[in-house]
Amino acid sequence: MLEQFLNIYAIATCVLGLMICMHFYMDDPKRDYEYGIMILLCNLLSNYYWGAYVLLIGSDPNVSSFSAYFGWNISYIPMMLILTNRLKGEEKRFFSPLCLIPVPINIAQFILYLQFGGLFNNIWEGLWCTAIACAGLNGLIYYWKNRKNNVTFPYECLVCFAYMFFEYGMWTGSCFEWPGEWSDPFTYFSILLYSLYLFIPFAIRKETGRARKENKEDVFMHLGSVIRPFYTVVVFLCLVGGYVLAAWMKNALDQGMVSPDDYDTYRIIAVMLFVFTVVLLLFSIGIIVIVRFARRAAESDELRRAKAIADHSNAAKSDFLANMSHEIRTPINAVLGMNEMILRESLQSRDDPPGDKNKARDIFANICNYAGNIESAGTNLLSIINDILDFSKIEAGKLEIVEGEYRLSSVLNDLCNVISFKARDKGLEFSIDVDASLPDGLYGDEVRFRQVVTNILNNAVKYTKEGSVHMSVRGEWAAQLNGREAVYLVIKVKDTGIGIKEEDIDKLFTKFERMDLETNSTVEGTGLGLAITRSLLTMMGGSISVESVYGQGSEFTVTLPQTVLSDESVGDFKSKYEQSMLER
Ligand code: ADP
Repeated sequence: MLEQFLNIYAIATCVLGLMICMHFYMDDPKRDYEYGIMILLCNLLSNYYWGAYVLLIGSDPNVSSFSAYFGWNISYIPMMLILTNRLKGEEKRFFSPLCLIPVPINIAQFILYLQFGGLFNNIWEGLWCTAIACAGLNGLIYYWKNRKNNVTFPYECLVCFAYMFFEYGMWTGSCFEWPGEWSDPFTYFSILLYSLYLFIPFAIRKETGRARKENKEDVFMHLGSVIRPFYTVVVFLCLVGGYVLAAWMKNALDQGMVSPDDYDTYRIIAVMLFVFTVVLLLFSIGIIVIVRFARRAAESDELRRAKAIADHSNAAKSDFLANMSHEIRTPINAVLGMNEMILRESLQSRDDPPGDKNKARDIFANICNYAGNIESAGTNLLSIINDILDFSKIEAGKLEIVEGEYRLSSVLNDLCNVISFKARDKGLEFSIDVDASLPDGLYGDEVRFRQVVTNILNNAVKYTKEGSVHMSVRGEWAAQLNGREAVYLVIKVKDTGIGIKEEDIDKLFTKFERMDLETNSTVEGTGLGLAITRSLLTMMGGSISVESVYGQGSEFTVTLPQTVLSDESVGDFKSKYEQSMLER
């Protein structure tokens, strides 16, 4: 009865451990899991064919010690590989003589066990068990000596060492006569050893770390979700099928003229069960190979994709630098040129002062014009430099959103004043439409809000040759933001400009990207504005989108949640603004 239980327990824990290990492996295909799967499979091989035979026939199979111990003996190899695979850096060179403690113990066991098993089997087992026990102990000693230096606990060493210890207890127990099954240490050490199967995958996961899910490629995840159930079903079918087939064979043999005592005849069942589990082992190796190939393919795919992105971004960066030096040089040249003119005309006037008042006025008018040009070139240069600085801050994750109180009407007023001049200079019509019920007192990052809208308005003017630019500001009520009443500002900027090709729309918000360079060759720009705009909006919880018809115009829509501070509304902003423009 107890023996039956032990056989079933060994098979059950082994299959369960194997499934868990395969499950972890699909999530995180590391070498250690492959070794873990091999350890469990090899153990299953012996446990299953041995256990199933005993369960069915009621006695040990009469087979050679080679096939009897085949699985258990092979499992020592992946176990040793697990221990060596984990060694890194200093631990690789570490050796403590204390780790040799198992040597004399194992020699004693070898001698004791000569009565069973066969010489080759005993030498093989003795050598591997000693090596594994020593390596496992060495890892544990290394941890003990370095535990204060943040060394991770050697779970794999602990499991392997415990495995050897329990196995040692089991076989030593079985060398002596005990009054009953319950006083035989074999029973307890077997339960401990079989329970350890369940810990193998967890020990590997503990030591190698949990898989980071976000790193997983889609193809690979997909493959995992197919292989997992498929593998589970095949293993169970194999095990149940093997047992059913063995039972059927036994029945057939029993019905023949075979004497029930002639257990030799049942050897055919043992061989069949053995072959069955070897097939299972080969099938599992096949699965591992598939996972490995898929993983490698996914990785090289990922690498190829990453390389293409890096190449593209590198090319864009080179264009950006070339463009940038042009963009920076132009205003500096303008500043220097204008300054030279100021100097030349001022010096001329100093050396030869104009007697005529009108001539003097002309000279001053010229100088004012030069100074005006210097101002606009300087402003342009400053905005380019601000873009670069903002962009590098965003890239470094150092840009912060600084919130405060502000009045929406005053921000809109400033924006309209600046942009209407720019539009007028280009002969464009600028109009605005603001929802009168919008709250005026808001709380948010006013500076970044201005920056976002300015950028979109500037672009609209920049990329429109004739026609108009129209801005509309509306609000959608959001319930709450940080526990306070909030409004989603929806700002639309529509122009009748050059428009954007459909295939370029996706690239629009990417850093360093400038579209339609043939048409835009005379338009100044860095290709950073929209990338910065989108990053700022994302940081503030907002978003940006665009609709455009190439050759006809574009409409950019910005949504931005802002906290409402007062009930006072913006009112008839449009009339007030138009009135102020007329008064100028
Ligand atoms: P920049 O204007 O400095 O080149 P942006 O990031 O602001 O950089 O814009 C990126 C590109 O998007 C521009 O080069 C231009 O091709 C395109 N673009 C932006 N706004 C408009 C618009 N209103 N109309 C047409 N094209 C636009």
